[in-house]
Amino acid sequence: MSQNKYAPLSGREFPRYSAIKTFFRLPYVAKDEDYEIGLFGVPFDGGVSYRPGARFAPSHIRQTSSLGRGYHWTRGIQVFNQKKVADIGDCSTVPISIDQTYEKIESYTSELVNLNKKFIAVGGDHSMTLPILRALKKKHQKPLSFIHFDAHLDTYPAAWGCEYHHGSFARHAVEEGLVNPKRMIQIGIRGPLADGSDLDFVNRHGITVKTIDDVRDKSLNDFVKELPEFLKEEPTYLSFDIDCLDPAYAPGTGTPVPGGLTSYEVQKILRNLKIGNLVGGDIVEVLPSSDQSDITSLMAVDVMFEILCLL
Ligand code: MN
Ligand code: MN
Repeated sequence: MSQNKYAPLSGREFPRYSAIKTFFRLPYVAKDEDYEIGLFGVPFDGGVSYRPGARFAPSHIRQTSSLGRGYHWTRGIQVFNQKKVADIGDCSTVPISIDQTYEKIESYTSELVNLNKKFIAVGGDHSMTLPILRALKKKHQKPLSFIHFDAHLDTYPAAWGCEYHHGSFARHAVEEGLVNPKRMIQIGIRGPLADGSDLDFVNRHGITVKTIDDVRDKSLNDFVKELPEFLKEEPTYLSFDIDCLDPAYAPGTGTPVPGGLTSYEVQKILRNLKIGNLVGGDIVEVLPSSDQSDITSLMAVDVMFEILCLL
C-alpha cells in the first residue's frame, strides 16, 4: 500500500476547521489494517476522585489536533511520511463499571499488540493505564521499563474501599509485576501527599522520582543529561498525565497541582529521552470542561506528536 493512504487530510484542500475530526486529520481505519502506529481514544473517567469529565477528552483532542502538523522542527523528520499512522477509533468502555472497562481495555490492547501495532491511547483518566500495562506484560512476558510524567505518584492506597482508581494505577502496576520499578522513572512529581509515608512505596521499590525541584535546581540541559537511557532490549512504555504541567500551562485537568512543569520543559525532556524500544504511550487526565482557549488540549496534541516521534 502506498504511504499516501495514511497521509493527513490536506489543509489546503479542506481548511483545518473543516471536515470530520480524526487525530491529526489522519484516516480512520479498522484495527487490523496495515498501519504501523494506531491512535485511539479511551473515553472513560470512572476512576476519578475529584472533577469528572475526562471521558470527553478523546473527541475534544481530535478536534484540536486539526492544528497538528507532521514535521518535527528539532528532529528534522516528517513523521507521517516515515510511518503509517492512523486513527483507529475509540476503545469501547462502560461508564459505570471500572471492572468491565478494564477487561475491554486489556483485550483491545492485546488485540493491537498481537497484530504487532504500536499505539498512543488518549484518555480518559489515569486508571486506564493499568489494563494497558497488563496487556503489554502478557505480550512481552517481562516487566516493562516505564516513564511516567505526573504531578502525583499514583501509588496511593485504596480509596473509599476501592482498589482501582486514577491515583493507584502505578502501585498496582508495580505490585502485579507489570513494570520494573528499577527501570521506572516518575517526572514532575510534587505531591500532594497525605503524609510522608506516601513516599515509602517508591523508596521501598527503588523507583526513580524526579521532582519539580530536581528539574529546576540545575539548568534544563544538565537535567536532561542525567535521565536514564532505555535500551533496545527493554520494552518501554510512556504514560503522560497532563497535570505534570503547571495549571497555568494546562488548566484543563481534574486534579491540578500548582508549581509544575512548563510546556517548554516538557518538550525539552521528551526530545531528550533515549528510548531504544518504545512500545506504546498514553496521554491522560485532560478535562475539556475546565480548559481555557484549548490551552490544555493543544498541549496534549503536542505531547502526542512528541510521543509519535519517539515511536
Ligand atoms: Mn496526576
Ligand atoms: Mn496520574
